[in-house]
Parts: sequence; C-alpha cells; structure tokens
Amino acid sequence: MPDTLARNRAQTQAAYVATRQQHAARPRRESVRKRIGKRRARRIDERDGGCCVYCGSDGAGAHLHLDHLKTRSTGGSDDVANLVTACRRCNSARQDMTVAEWSRYAAAKYGIIFSARRIWAHARKAS
Ligand SMILES: [Zn+2]
Repeated sequence: MPDTLARNRAQTQAAYVATRQQHAARPRRESVRKRIGKRRARRIDERDGGCCVYCGSDGAGAHLHLDHLKTRSTGGSDDVANLVTACRRCNSARQDMTVAEWSRYAAAKYGIIFSARRIWAHARKAS
C-alpha cells in the first residue's frame, strides 16, 4: 500500500510539473487595450461613458474590459465599431456567445436587460 501511495504521489507531482511547463510555454495573451493603442481605447471609453454597456455598472468595482461584439474567435476585428466596454462579470459570463445569445442568457440568468440591436447600433455610432 505505501508503494501505491508513493507512486500516486510521484505521478501527481509529474503531472503537476507538466501542467506548469505547458502553462509557462503558452503564448501570453496580449491585452486588447495595448493592441489597439491608447487613443482608440479612449474613444471607446468616452463613447461608452465609463460603464458596462450590458449591465450599466461603473466605477472601480466594475473592472471595465474591452469586449468584442463579434468575437475574435469568429473573426471579429479590433475596430472601434466592434468593441465596447464591459465589466469583468459580463465579459467573462458572455464567453463566446453572440450578442443576441448573450442578451437572452443575461436576461434569463441575471435579469440584465438590454437589446442586442441597440448595443450594435450604439457601437456603430461615430465616437
Ligand atoms: Zn456588466
């Protein structure tokens, strides 16, 4: 029995080291703000009024991120018209849903009500 324990422990340790190595080798995720530059980021911040476009939260507690309306995974660009400010909670809860899917999900799950069409129209407004 102690042999089994020792073997399990060694395997766990090896798996742990492998995971750590994979993690360290992974390319770093670049921040959207850094990629698009300060001026463009400021235009989006000003257009969106320092609030999450989905739930309206603001202030330091909101941790506003830039959210791609058409997700990067589906070919969405870093255009100002494709980026909005979103709080960390909304940004991470949305994952790779479309805005329309996220609107239905947010309403059902969190009671956050917004129109996907209005979000798109808002982002396309000249800023
Ligand atoms: Zn939000």
